[in-house]
Amino acid sequence: MKRIVIIGGGFAGLSTAFHLCRQQGHCFRVSVVDKKEYFNFLPALPDIIGRDIAPEALEYPLAAAAERGGFDFTRAEVDSVDLKGKKIICREKDMAYDYLVIGSGSETNFYGNKQIETDAFRLDNTQDSRAITAALEQDKYESFVICGGGYTGVEIATQVRMFFARRRRKKRIVIVERSPFLLGAVPERLRGYVLDNLKRLNIDIFSGNSVAAALDGAITLEDGTVFKKAMLIWCAGVKTASFIERVDAEKDRQGRIKVDAFLRFSENCFAVGDAAAFSYKQGALRMAVQFALAQGKAAAINIRRLHDKKALQRYVPYDRGYIIPMANNRSCGVALGLEISGRIPTLLHYAMCVYLMFGWEQQRAMLGSLLFHRRRRDA
Ligand SMILES: Cc1cc2nc3c(=O)[nH]c(=O)nc-3n(C[C@H](O)[C@H](O)[C@H](O)COP(=O)(O)OP(=O)(O)OC[C@H]3O[C@@H](n4cnc5c(N)ncnc54)[C@H](O)[C@@H]3O)c2cc1C
Repeated sequence: MKRIVIIGGGFAGLSTAFHLCRQQGHCFRVSVVDKKEYFNFLPALPDIIGRDIAPEALEYPLAAAAERGGFDFTRAEVDSVDLKGKKIICREKDMAYDYLVIGSGSETNFYGNKQIETDAFRLDNTQDSRAITAALEQDKYESFVICGGGYTGVEIATQVRMFFARRRRKKRIVIVERSPFLLGAVPERLRGYVLDNLKRLNIDIFSGNSVAAALDGAITLEDGTVFKKAMLIWCAGVKTASFIERVDAEKDRQGRIKVDAFLRFSENCFAVGDAAAFSYKQGALRMAVQFALAQGKAAAINIRRLHDKKALQRYVPYDRGYIIPMANNRSCGVALGLEISGRIPTLLHYAMCVYLMFGWEQQRAMLGSLLFHRRRRDA
């Protein structure tokens, strides 16, 4: 029986594993390897801050997913991949494969700045969200500096504002963005909507600026502005997992592995989700759940076709759009080509979160938090 090793039990990796095991006449041994014990539902991480969603509602045990899907799960951190020897090398052990799928996602990029990395908070998983809420609960900061004015930075800034608004505490919240505008790739009307909403929420913007230093609660910007008693949340970019640097394949600026039209980067190796740079409209396809899930399925189909010596199928992305969720329910985005703003995109975002969440218990917990959080806090 041929062995398929999938690195990463996230959206893309699990999608590959489930689709492989669901195929008719399924003839592989499928193993998912992840450094974490739990799948983390990343799109709702910021909601842990402002909406009181319990972090556990966003965690699903990978062992349970494996049992449900009929594949193996190994908890191990991948250190490198030996493409010639067809094995992955983990801190804990090595594993041989016939087909490999890399779906190890992405993580915060500090661009080598160790000092900022030590002092700043990040939001890559549920552990990080617990660390952020614990720091907010301690109430030792007066200012909150969110570095990075992309979707995640904007969303986090609004969630931090909601956290303090519910506790009736006044705090300064700022977004620092290196380029002249926030959300550079977003249509102008939507960008205007976001800026207007940030103004309503009293969130200041420092564009054309960046964080120069962060030390012991003092944050200094490149233009010399200093925030004292300040907490830094860093969302100024992402990169792929560090073991990918050592994979013998072509990569883009973010370290994503360049894949062909069939999601392959070598004869029997595939990359999917955030770890893959799939060429689309003169760039790499953006990082999003919808593409991670679809690529996982496409890789599963192509592994089977490769094994059956059939022609591979091209992966053709279908972009349903995106939403920039903001915690006061004034969200915006593009759905099926239409620009939308207000409560509808907020509802769509949470409908997506509940629908895609693994596990009935987690879905119920998420729904309960969304419907009842305000009542609970007011009680
Ligand atoms: C805060 C936040 C908000 C987001 N909001 C949205 C949103 O609203 N809508 C949207 O579409 N997308 C959103 N995204 C992006 C989306 O979550 C990603 O595009 C998606 O998770 C990619 O799926 P993936 O399977 O490639 O990676 P992931 O889901 O990140 O899974 C990667 C897995 O690989 C594992 N791994 C990493 N390195 C190793 C290693 N060395 N060894 C073993 N295992 C390893 C990790 O533990 C993880 O489980 C958001 C992301 C974040 C961080």
